[in-house]
Amino acid sequence: MKARTRIAPSPTGQDLHIGNAYTALINYVVATKSGGQFIVRIEDTDRTRLVEGSESRILSSLDWLGIPHHEGPDVGGPFAPYRQSERLPEYKKYADELIGKGHAYYCFCTPQRLEAMRKSQEAEHKPPMYDGFCKTLNTDESKKRAASGEKHVIRMNVPDEGNTSFTDLIRGEITFENKLIDDQVLLKSDGFPTYHLGVVVDDHVMGITHIIRGEEWIPSTPKHILLYNFFGWDIPAIAHVSVLRNPDKSKLSKRKNPVWV
Ligand code: GLU
Repeated sequence: MKARTRIAPSPTGQDLHIGNAYTALINYVVATKSGGQFIVRIEDTDRTRLVEGSESRILSSLDWLGIPHHEGPDVGGPFAPYRQSERLPEYKKYADELIGKGHAYYCFCTPQRLEAMRKSQEAEHKPPMYDGFCKTLNTDESKKRAASGEKHVIRMNVPDEGNTSFTDLIRGEITFENKLIDDQVLLKSDGFPTYHLGVVVDDHVMGITHIIRGEEWIPSTPKHILLYNFFGWDIPAIAHVSVLRNPDKSKLSKRKNPVWV
């Protein structure tokens, strides 16, 4: 089987992070060993954290390291564009599909309400999660409110019961209780997807066969598995590699360590 792998860096840092360089190398080797392709996709959906020039420094650092990519924002490819900010209609289409299937819902909660909710959860020592206030609204009415311009986001409708599991190629089976998985925002009020919707849609549409990324993404993976199941899509092979650490096993810190390539 020819593997299609990817890295999906966010252009929010000063350069390519050393951890991204490490996962890029692994992804590149897995793809090329099988005669497949290694892809670079830029996940630039968090508009508040964008750093000017970051994308071109990421690409030139990969080049300098000698890790070439077959598809990406600079070299193009059959699934262009490879920058998420240029793919917004795609995410809207899939978010609407989930609403139609009852796997997602419109949420009109104000930042004030969400803040009050968070504070009371904190006071009660409960995990910070959306309380499902908009989950029970009538879908047709919500659709009308959204169409009339009322500010909203789209959230995923996580089942209250049961578990979500996946098999990690390195770590084996990992299981999460659904009741601990948040009704994650999928589409923000500015029309941009969150990481979770963007990554699942693009990995599927771009035919990614192996998702190889740092272990810090493990808590996100059950949300992705639920989304794959909601859409009825095949789940790619998944591997979470260890993050790079200091010799004393502490985490690399952007402030204290030279983390940029
Ligand atoms: N945009 C994520 C990042 O900044 C991608 C994580 C993933 O590979 O799924 O690394």
